[in-house]
Amino acid sequence: MAIRPIVTLADNNPVLRRPANRVRRIDKATRALMDDMIDTMRDAPGVGLAAPQIGVELRVIVVEVPTDPEDPESAMRLHALADPEILWSSPEIEEDQEACLSIPGLYGDVPRNVAIRIRGLDRSGRQVELEVADYEARVFQHEIDHLDGILYTQRVTSPDKLYRLQQDASGTYVRTPLGTDEVHVL
Ligand SMILES: [Zn+2]
Repeated sequence: MAIRPIVTLADNNPVLRRPANRVRRIDKATRALMDDMIDTMRDAPGVGLAAPQIGVELRVIVVEVPTDPEDPESAMRLHALADPEILWSSPEIEEDQEACLSIPGLYGDVPRNVAIRIRGLDRSGRQVELEVADYEARVFQHEIDHLDGILYTQRVTSPDKLYRLQQDASGTYVRTPLGTDEVHVL
């Protein structure tokens, strides 16, 4: 198990923009990759990570979010999935804040389906189906997008939905919109 360096947009590495390859069969190397991804996600810290973010062009994701989205101290639920596919998406869309370990310092308000059903291979190679909702569904959609070379910055409905957060004198976080020169590289 090891913490791997995370590829960021500033690295100009095309791996973040390319679709990743299917795994098809879980072997020792896939399990080692999943373990490294879990270590890397927790170290960052983050709530999800896709293999292309550590430079590996395989369809593998890890997601770890609190079981109670209202309480960050609640027990965490961990998923490691290869070849995840979205089988069904609820018609309801919700816009909420996202960030990405590959785009440090940036935030965006991104529309996502509220609930989804996913199929994939777990760490033991078994095919599993799960239904997730709300924040967990958002994280899964964000990570599965990475496997298709899509970043959340491409999902916002307008450039002014991308921003940085800065604390003002009273400690409140205020949004600073990006300049147009910054937006076009995303
Ligand atoms: Zn991301």
